[in-house]
Amino acid sequence: MIDLRSDTITLPDETMRRAIYEAELGDDVYGEDPNVNRLQKMAADLVGKEAAMLVPSGTMGNQVAILTHCKPGTEVIMEADSHIYYYEAAAASVFAGIQPRPLQGQKGVLPADLVEWAIRQDDIHLPPTSLICLENTHNRAGGRIFPLEEMKSVFNVAKKHGLPVHLDGARIFNASVASGVSVKDFTACTTSIQFCLSKGLGAPVGSIIAGPAEFIEEARRWRKRLGGGMRQAGIIAAAGIVALDKMVDRLAEDHANARLLAEGLAELKGIDFNLDDVDTNIVIVKPTGMSVQELGQQLKKRGVLTVVMQPDRIRFTTNKEVSRMDIEKTISILEEVLANS
Ligand SMILES: *Cc1c(COP(=O)(O)O)cnc(C)c1O
Repeated sequence: MIDLRSDTITLPDETMRRAIYEAELGDDVYGEDPNVNRLQKMAADLVGKEAAMLVPSGTMGNQVAILTHCKPGTEVIMEADSHIYYYEAAAASVFAGIQPRPLQGQKGVLPADLVEWAIRQDDIHLPPTSLICLENTHNRAGGRIFPLEEMKSVFNVAKKHGLPVHLDGARIFNASVASGVSVKDFTACTTSIQFCLSKGLGAPVGSIIAGPAEFIEEARRWRKRLGGGMRQAGIIAAAGIVALDKMVDRLAEDHANARLLAEGLAELKGIDFNLDDVDTNIVIVKPTGMSVQELGQQLKKRGVLTVVMQPDRIRFTTNKEVSRMDIEKTISILEEVLANS
């Protein structure tokens, strides 16, 4: 099977498995796991924040950030197709008691003037705005990069209004490798950030949340409340260290494969798709001659796994388990399937 469903399907390689096997362990709830401490220090340095904390998932990272930044009854500005709004089972409403304020972005990008327009005035009828969330790269927009200049503009608006900015940077390393902008430059435009170790970077489990020391201290309490305090978490952190040390540069291969797939697709009939929409490792297309369900099934029958993005789009995500040859094969399978549409 050529698995293009997601970059979350990636498996730890031998170096990672060895690091897990050999990891010296301690109880991280007591702050005594050496690999967790090392990973957190490394991650904080990489994103230019005072402190960082390991969490079991990106979702928990985002939710801990919202819980730490926001009081119940306040409003959080977010993009209408963002992961926090779309894919986290309304966790921010359930746990943090916030009201989401979804804004329609432009391919995942929230323009600063739109953000400023949405910030609430001080009025007893209105929920106070407490946080602005951004996503880079933007998953549902097709792995789009939120350009640095645009992030700076939003951050300036946030500063002007005394508001924190949280970045859902699940794939911020993809944004950095593809654009040549350092992760630190992106994160300089944020108060807090969450990024995933378990996507393109190939670790089996784990995300990092980073921010000011005081913020992370409070976030630690929220992680514990949610049941995310893990004991010998060094078996996870050891893989995370390898991910940050050795797996960042290889994201360029995923991007090259996505580009190859995109160029192949651009030649095909029966598909609505713009080559300029591919920034990183995600390619989203709209079939015109058949339903997405039909296309997904036809591809699966021929050994290619994809994800249907309701209602009319299908997603291909390149990842380290998929080679250049697999992509070439995928293009010829697509040609065959679409020719019959
Ligand atoms: C995958 C993803 C997350 C959540 O990560 P999990 O580890 O699956 O909970 C958050 N944000 C974005 C943009 C993602 O793609």
